[in-house]
Amino acid sequence: MVGEKMKDYYEILGVKRNATAEEIKKRFRELAIKYHPDRNPDNSQAEEKFKLINEAYSVLSDPKKRAQYDQFGRVDEADSFGGGFDFSTVFNDVFEDLSSMFGDIFGDYSSRRKRPQKGDDIGINLTIDFKEAVFGAKKEVKIKHKKVCPDCKGTGSAKGGYQVCPYCRGRGEISYSQGFFSVTKTCPKCGGTGRIITKRCTTCGGTGYVYDEEKFIVNIQQGIEDGNIIRVHGKGEPGLYGGPAGDLYIYIHVREHEFFKRKGRDIFVEIPISITQAALGATIKVPTIWRESELMIPPGTQTGDEFKLKKKGVELNGLRGDQIVKVRVVIPKNLSKRQKELLEEFAKESGEDLTYKESILNKFKNFFK
Ligand SMILES: [Zn+2]
Ligand SMILES: [Zn+2]
Repeated sequence: MVGEKMKDYYEILGVKRNATAEEIKKRFRELAIKYHPDRNPDNSQAEEKFKLINEAYSVLSDPKKRAQYDQFGRVDEADSFGGGFDFSTVFNDVFEDLSSMFGDIFGDYSSRRKRPQKGDDIGINLTIDFKEAVFGAKKEVKIKHKKVCPDCKGTGSAKGGYQVCPYCRGRGEISYSQGFFSVTKTCPKCGGTGRIITKRCTTCGGTGYVYDEEKFIVNIQQGIEDGNIIRVHGKGEPGLYGGPAGDLYIYIHVREHEFFKRKGRDIFVEIPISITQAALGATIKVPTIWRESELMIPPGTQTGDEFKLKKKGVELNGLRGDQIVKVRVVIPKNLSKRQKELLEEFAKESGEDLTYKESILNKFKNFFK
């Protein structure tokens, strides 16, 4: 290092000579993020600065080296930064350092390798009518698809608008030795593609993807329920490097019906009946999802009583549920004179005294004692 101007590591990091290890580390993080080559592509000044920051930090973060530096203004060690500076080693050391410090802040490079990757799955919502769910339907769905850009074939660069990555020389990965070991990792400069884009593809803006609307018909199975998910194989995003496409997940929402409620294969309805039908019994017509059906109401039926119409429910996978009919007895309003007379006669026959309104209260008298 004779003749070389001494580097002031404190000045490079912008910390005081008596800065604590914590202050040095904090400052280094800030600068490393700011000047990281990933954030400053094709900026040689930033790259140079990044190298210096790392060099300064590697000395000042090591108490032994720092003491030596403070005393002699340099560090005399086999691995000190003299001539024959190996940029890639430093770069990767720092990169490793940064990854361990910040987790995934710079992305997981290993996942960007060229091995086949399955495309992402897509999820969409689809709302269908009650009847469509019960009987099945064919529905048209529209999805926005990420498609490999037809112009650049997914590379993101315009025709000839790229150069072989100078950092890995197009190999997509770099090897360096660390002690006795030789380590190979994905090139952080090109992300493993081996190329640096110099002119972006105008069709996709350099992303390598374009969006395409795709319409197709989905078969809704008979008996599908609200909350069910239909999986359409291979209708997700395209795969990378020859990997298969992802899948499409269709989340089914079923609109409620005015009268019919559903629970699994069973259908529930509430049917109003008159007091005479309830008292005397009757055969009434009841709507089902299939067609009208007849239901026998026995004499003495009460509001809330339930009757089962077997096999009038939803059919799913060859099995059919039932329809449960809940009756509600409707008390007539606005009686005609004759109706009133008849009911009064009915009451008389039942031994009821309609004039004595407190008859019910009498029953509870003991309760208050
Ligand atoms: Zn393109
Ligand atoms: Zn590269």
